[in-house]
Amino acid sequence: MIPIASPLIGKEEADAAASVVLSGWLTQGPQILAFESEFAASVEADHACAVANCTVALHLALMAIGVGPGAEVIMASHTFIASANAVRQCGGIPVFIDIDPVTFTMDPDKIAPAITSRTKAIMCIHQMGMPCDMERILPIARAYGLKVIEDAACAIGSEIQIGGVWQRIGYPHGDVACFSLHPRKLLTVGDGGVLTTSDPEFDRIFRLGRQHGMSVPDTVRHNSSIVVIEEYPIAGFNYRLTDVQGAIGRVQLKRLDAIVARRRELATVYKRMLAEVPGVTPPAEPTWARTNWQSYCVRLPDGANQVALMQQMLDQGIATRRGIMCVHLERAYADLELRFPLPESERARDRCILLPLFHSMTDDEQRHVVSALKDALSNCLEQSGSI
Ligand SMILES: *Cc1c(COP(=O)(O)O)cnc(C)c1O
Repeated sequence: MIPIASPLIGKEEADAAASVVLSGWLTQGPQILAFESEFAASVEADHACAVANCTVALHLALMAIGVGPGAEVIMASHTFIASANAVRQCGGIPVFIDIDPVTFTMDPDKIAPAITSRTKAIMCIHQMGMPCDMERILPIARAYGLKVIEDAACAIGSEIQIGGVWQRIGYPHGDVACFSLHPRKLLTVGDGGVLTTSDPEFDRIFRLGRQHGMSVPDTVRHNSSIVVIEEYPIAGFNYRLTDVQGAIGRVQLKRLDAIVARRRELATVYKRMLAEVPGVTPPAEPTWARTNWQSYCVRLPDGANQVALMQQMLDQGIATRRGIMCVHLERAYADLELRFPLPESERARDRCILLPLFHSMTDDEQRHVVSALKDALSNCLEQSGSI
């Protein structure tokens, strides 16, 4: 069986976790502090705050920038549902705009027409690791006085060229970037999330919010020689990440460069192999972006039956996934009034599939995927005789 993804994680992480267990300090302690400073350094952010997952990171980010009841957030519908759920959790209204069919990220031309007097923020979702076109989006945000949140759940290690300089996602482009450490992403600690920002006030709010609104971190109280009494200036949440996970995260971070390099190699091989599969369009990288290829999304030819093709590949021992979901097509969002048609988002969901791509994948496995795709395609064209 060739899985869709498989994390690179092993004995070093297990040892790091074990030593935290034996240390006796299990949550949001010294390992989290060290993980945060190493994470910040790796993306050149001023501040990094570790939390339980990316969904709660998005919640804290939206809260910090002031998204409350009735506030509108312009974003793609073509995303994992958590991006939109976080907006709703704040009482905000997701305003869905369509994507660029090549990068699968929000189409910057669609932003200005979606802005109203209630628009508070733009959520840039670096979908499947591909950076949004920040060089075009940021000036629009500035011109209209909007905040920019980056859903960078998939984008650790991705880079973008701005003003001629390559920078990692997480470097302060928008106001806040939110990362996921779920096993489906490049780095994992089981479940985890990180917020990066250049704004110390936002960072302070994240730290209060993740720990019940408590003014004094446990690390400070524990190490103080005088009695410290904490205060609770805001009603917060419990969004803590454990020290066990922090220690695992520190080992994972050391692997990041190798993981990104390997994924980029695998993508190059796929691109070459897919040139021999007529009708299938491999994903393309714009000149200003270097994706981490968190997911590898190919477009099927018109007339191919997506689900039948995925089933045939599964029968051959190959896991695939449908193109990224569209939030507006899910029942949970049936009551949301759409303001714009989203044809490219829907087409990407229905006409694309994700192919397996993981660090330890071999050349033979890639060849097997591509030849199974080729076979399945010839069996799954809805109009016979179109190949
Ligand atoms: C995975 C993902 C999330 C959610 O991340 P969790 O850490 O599982 O909460 C949010 N947005 C996008 C785009 C994702 O891919």
